[in-house]
Amino acid sequence: MPEVLEEVIQFLQESEVVLVIVGAGLSRPSGLPTFREDPGFWGHAIEEIATKVAFDRNPAQVWNLYERMRRLALDATPNEGHLALARLSKAKPSCLTITQNIDELSTDAGHELGTLQTLHGSLFDLKCANDACTFKGRNVDRRTFDLLVCPECRLSYLRPGVTWFGERLPLDVVQKIDAWLEFHERIDMVLVVGTERTPYLHDALLRGAKVAWFNKMEGHVEDMGDADWVVDGDASMTLPYVIDSALAGVPEHGLS
Ligand SMILES: [Zn+2]
Repeated sequence: MPEVLEEVIQFLQESEVVLVIVGAGLSRPSGLPTFREDPGFWGHAIEEIATKVAFDRNPAQVWNLYERMRRLALDATPNEGHLALARLSKAKPSCLTITQNIDELSTDAGHELGTLQTLHGSLFDLKCANDACTFKGRNVDRRTFDLLVCPECRLSYLRPGVTWFGERLPLDVVQKIDAWLEFHERIDMVLVVGTERTPYLHDALLRGAKVAWFNKMEGHVEDMGDADWVVDGDASMTLPYVIDSALAGVPEHGLS
C-alpha cells in the first residue's frame, strides 16, 4: 500500500473530530456533471448561469438548465464515496460534513442528518425570486417543469432553492457550522473531497487540523495548498477504501 494511504488511514483511525468538505467531484461518479469538468453540459461559464443577475435576465434559460440537472439528480444514486462518508458519520459522531453539492445524494446515502450541513441549498427546493416573498416548496416530481409564477405572491417566478454567486449562505446552516466550530477547540483532521473550493478550511487549520485531499488529479499536479496528504483518484473508490480501513483497522492487503 502506498505510504500516503497508510498514513491517512492511520491518522483517520486516531481522529475523533473530523471535518469533511465535499464538492462536485464526489457526485461525478454518480453521473452528475460538474461546472468545471463538464462545461459542455451547462454551455456557459458558471458565473453566467449561477447568479441572480443571470436569472433575472433570462429566467427560462437558467430554469431549464437547473431543471435538466434536477432530473439527472433525481435518477442518480449515491456512489460508494457517499456511502462511506455516511458510515463515517455514524462511526464518529463528532464528525461534521459540509457539502457544497445540491443533489441530496449524501442524504440519500443515509448520512447522519445532524452532522450534515448543505451549504448551497438543493436542486429539489423551490423558492420565490422575490426576496420579500416567503414561499418555499419542493420539486421532486419526475416530470420536467417549465418556469412557474410564484403561487403565493404572483409577482415573481419560482427559482431553484440554491445559493448563487453573490448570495448569502443560508443563515441556519451557517449558525449550525459556527456552533460546531465553537464547540470544538481542536479539530483533528479535514477530508477535502472532490473540490478545490474549501470553505471553513481556514477555521480547521487554526484548530490544528491535518488535511487529506481526495481528488482526481487527471495526471497534473496542482497547488495542493494546505494539504498534508493528497489521495489521487476517483473519490468513489479511494474514500471507501480509506474510511473502511480506518474504521476496521488497516487490512493486510493494499489497494490494488
Ligand atoms: Zn412569491
